[in-house]
Amino acid sequence: MRADVVTIFPDYLQPLRLSLVGRAQQRGTLDVRAHDLRTWTSDLHRTVDDAPYGGGPGMVMRPEPWDAALTEISAAVPGSRPRVVVPTPAGVPFTQRKAEELAREPWLVFCCGRYEGIDSRVVEAWADDEISIGDYVLAGGEVATLVILEAVARLLPGVLGNSASAAEDSFSDGLLEAPVYTRPQVWRGMEVPAVLRSGDHGAVARWRREQSLTRTGQRRPDLLAEATRTGTANRAAAE
Ligand code: SAM
Repeated sequence: MRADVVTIFPDYLQPLRLSLVGRAQQRGTLDVRAHDLRTWTSDLHRTVDDAPYGGGPGMVMRPEPWDAALTEISAAVPGSRPRVVVPTPAGVPFTQRKAEELAREPWLVFCCGRYEGIDSRVVEAWADDEISIGDYVLAGGEVATLVILEAVARLLPGVLGNSASAAEDSFSDGLLEAPVYTRPQVWRGMEVPAVLRSGDHGAVARWRREQSLTRTGQRRPDLLAEATRTGTANRAAAE
């Protein structure tokens, strides 16, 4: 997968060189390219913002540098067109389903807003997805892009050491994952559940499903209701 990120702070994307996502880039599974939006400005001060029409606080990102950047970047691969993602608090909430959907794309472009956001006409002209990572306001789209890209990258073939682990993670089946444990068997007087030490794979699988259903019901009743409605919870309980 190729991912181009347009931002006025390309250094914000440095963490993508680390760990799992960094290794995916070294192996060539993922190719992240950060671009400085100011490259596509034409004035001496490399201006990317201006006062909002209608008044009010803050500044808005001007459309021309964005249009120039997106025109040039999206022409980089002849015969192909990227899926353009704009992180914004006004977007569709980001979910594991959306991560799975984006992971099937060969090419993504992320537009990182700053200030009061990007002129809406850019979004209208270019965005395939407007995505929110939660009901709070960040200073810019870079951290939202990091969140989205990391969730997407770990779903790419070969990125996770154990390919089964993504399928067993929270949200894959619509539910939260069961609690996990490692050695020592007893820590601060708390013992690892006996079933996990039993060697009985069927019993372990049943325990995990029960825990998954119970935890989801306690912590995220909204998810359990949805999983019950779509049949995921019933399937899990029956298995
Ligand atoms: N004035 C905007 C509003 O109230 O919706 C907030 C702009 S915010 C300060 C600047 C940029 O941060 C946005 O253009 C967007 O790229 C990013 N951003 C902030 N919160 C976000 C969120 N919850 N999800 C995704 N992107 C977000």
